[in-house]
Amino acid sequence: MYLHPRFETLQRSEIENLQMERLHDTLKACMNSEFYRKRFHDAGITVDDIRTLDDVTKIPFTTKQDLRDNYPFGICTVPMEKVVRLHSSSGTTGTPTVILHTKKDLEQWAEAVARCLYMVGLRSGDVFQNSSGYGMFTGGLGFQYGAERLGMLTVPAAAGNTKRQIKFITDFGTTALHAIPSYAGRLYEVMEEMGIDPRKDTKLTTLIIGAEPHSEEQRRRIEKMLGVKAYNSFGMSEMCGPGVAFECQEQNGMHIWEDYYIVEIVDPVTLEPVPDGEIGELVLTTLNREAMPLLRYRTRDLTRILPGECPCGRHHRRLDRMKGRSDDMMILKGVNIFPIQIETVLMQFPELGNEYLITLTNLDANDTMTVEVELKEFTDDYARLQSLTKEITRQLRDEILITPQVRLVPKGSIAQGEGKAVRVRDLRKTLI
Ligand code: ADP
Ligand code: ZN
Repeated sequence: MYLHPRFETLQRSEIENLQMERLHDTLKACMNSEFYRKRFHDAGITVDDIRTLDDVTKIPFTTKQDLRDNYPFGICTVPMEKVVRLHSSSGTTGTPTVILHTKKDLEQWAEAVARCLYMVGLRSGDVFQNSSGYGMFTGGLGFQYGAERLGMLTVPAAAGNTKRQIKFITDFGTTALHAIPSYAGRLYEVMEEMGIDPRKDTKLTTLIIGAEPHSEEQRRRIEKMLGVKAYNSFGMSEMCGPGVAFECQEQNGMHIWEDYYIVEIVDPVTLEPVPDGEIGELVLTTLNREAMPLLRYRTRDLTRILPGECPCGRHHRRLDRMKGRSDDMMILKGVNIFPIQIETVLMQFPELGNEYLITLTNLDANDTMTVEVELKEFTDDYARLQSLTKEITRQLRDEILITPQVRLVPKGSIAQGEGKAVRVRDLRKTLI
């Protein structure tokens, strides 16, 4: 039931003792880096001021901007000869960021991923196919090493070429697949075109989905389409990659490995902690990273701690499904809206496909939202289309409090690239 029973079944007090011990070592190591020495000095604190876990709030936050400002090796806390790999983010929004790993960091990361995969029931004997891009994107190598560590037969299919992906699934008897949720839908559509029924013609039983926000409704759709159990997987390059938090077989929140991280949820504006159960920004402190420990890293991801115990016996707290990143939030006519709220409504309509695109414009200085969504099947029954559009609009208005223009478009009209799905196009021009 547990891959690392010693760590997975720790009681709360044991988790906290271990965290304190590891935090102490981490802080000591951080003082090898000019970056953290200056941070502590400027904040007027020393490592000795951090005596309890509550003292963590005295430590200044680390942000993505810090990673950019210290690109590429500025936050390294070990001699560069000990660094054996780097991963870099895409850098589409400015200077890229780099995360460095020692051999031990890579081992710990692989252990975390293996623990997650074991938790959802995967074992040696399973065939694990990874449709993530390999290379700098951490979903490739991250899952590769974790799956190998578990002793599964791995199929490093990588991203793209969906027909080839499907051929691998059928030829190699793939039982478990890692895919971003938007790609899982695409995979099913191509299977349908190829006349392949995933339930009869494949051995797929488990899907690992993550790397982008998705609704519970989308998960259920994926499960139904492919005849699998789909588990939510959360990670980010700054925290190694996949393996940070993962659903167990209860499928109710993602256990975040608290022997690896100190977890805080803070109000994104005041940066004060919010009570358990309330949504805020996830802030993580790494506890067993050598090359590049991150203290109080602001992930910009919004979520909450799920209150209560999980029946699986793990006391590592559970994160709720991500609501999105703070930068995903759209502000329209003074209302805060997340794309996931719109997805939740759309996915409840069986007539609709999996792809949608939200476009924001401000003609006449008036913010307007258009929601284009693909129909599952072609129809020229205009009366039906009209009433469907009306009903979708009504439900969206109830959810987001403004009235979007809804456009039903034929299947295949909203093309997605290979990477994470693009759900929002903001074409608004600032007027000042
Ligand atoms: P990039 O920053 O270029 O997208 P990453 O692969 O590091 O590269 O992306 C990590 C981010 O992806 C997280 O901070 C989070 O916003 C998102 N993410 C990862 N897993 C999930 C998940 N299961 N649900 C929702 N969002 C996720
Ligand atoms: Zn659990």
